[in-house]
Amino acid sequence: MLPMTDTTRASALGGTGASELFQLLRDGRPRTRAELSALTGLARSTIGLRLDVLAGLGLVGPVGDAVSTGGRPSTRVALVPGARVVLAADLGASHAHLALTDLLGRELVSRRGTIDVAHGPEAVLGWLVEQADDLLVDLGKARDDLIGVGLGLPGPVQFSTGRPVNPPIMPGWDGFDVPGLLRRHFDVPVLVDNDVNIMALGERTHAWPEADHFLFVKVATGIGAGIISGGRLQRGAQGIAGDIGHVQVPRGAGIPCHCGNVGCLEAVASGPAVAAALRRDGLDVATGREVVDLVRRGDVTSIQAVRQAGRDLGEVLTACVNMVNPSVIALGGSLAQAGEHLLAGVREVVYQRSMPLATEHLSIVPSRAGDRAALVGASMLAIHHALSPAALDELAAAV
Ligand SMILES: [Zn+2]
Repeated sequence: MLPMTDTTRASALGGTGASELFQLLRDGRPRTRAELSALTGLARSTIGLRLDVLAGLGLVGPVGDAVSTGGRPSTRVALVPGARVVLAADLGASHAHLALTDLLGRELVSRRGTIDVAHGPEAVLGWLVEQADDLLVDLGKARDDLIGVGLGLPGPVQFSTGRPVNPPIMPGWDGFDVPGLLRRHFDVPVLVDNDVNIMALGERTHAWPEADHFLFVKVATGIGAGIISGGRLQRGAQGIAGDIGHVQVPRGAGIPCHCGNVGCLEAVASGPAVAAALRRDGLDVATGREVVDLVRRGDVTSIQAVRQAGRDLGEVLTACVNMVNPSVIALGGSLAQAGEHLLAGVREVVYQRSMPLATEHLSIVPSRAGDRAALVGASMLAIHHALSPAALDELAAAV
């Protein structure tokens, strides 16, 4: 195969460079041709040709009139958010949440379901395809209207291939070609990532778009973090960056963890670990969610246990703060629903132990996107890829 030169790349869009111009319009803001010309340094006639190509794909259209300097109305153009739809999905151990969004990541229609991820990839992904088809019907759309799929899985994923890597709670999924199966049904790019990573993307998009150094920490059955550094999600060499649940903490000494080690953060501060500690104190509590219920009812023992879990988490996050120097740490996941008590424990340790310069402008806050974070992130992951210059050129070449 011949290497792709600038000329062949441009020829996919008729030599217009339209896909590059489109990157300016992806934020959805309407702009005049004059504004686009000023932003790019291109002649207005060139801008016009490129916009014609994008309009031909249905991705850009006129949005009402603005008064130009000559007093003549000049049409503004913008991304058409509803031109295509994106399938965003979040699979947990026993739940699934999926949605169709527009090209700005706004949810159009969604549903939740109960599915055991341990049933294996064929069964679970087959179910996901059926649910997605139902959503398309609900919205009056067809598979051809899809432009991309973003999917979060509850385990480590090699992002470049979309294949899970030794996922502990997903028997049968190790190395499975998840994008390959989904592409047999939906002929669009399929992006697969770890659920905490997509939650980090979603939380940042929803609440902290300016924060280029950002940690999202999920505290639920497991504990993990999504790291955004320099404005980019950091997945690490094998896709397990941010897997903080199995870092040893002082209070974990001698306590076995399901990973085979002893003393892990997850063994003392996850929802099930806190519930187990409370049972040893004589309380009748089985799950992390029941711990949250007890905290909300004001049970002092439970509040103290959650606060201590926050301190344990703070031990590990202190090291993360010194390593990554984030400006925001957002806490999500079911145990974070216990509100200020978990946060208070984290803050107590992080602010006490970190270097003053690292904490001077550090906010440690509850998740604002809540249970929407994963879907927003999955959608953004797919949109970012599907609307990239290379993907748009492919789309145009296929028309
Ligand atoms: Zn462990």
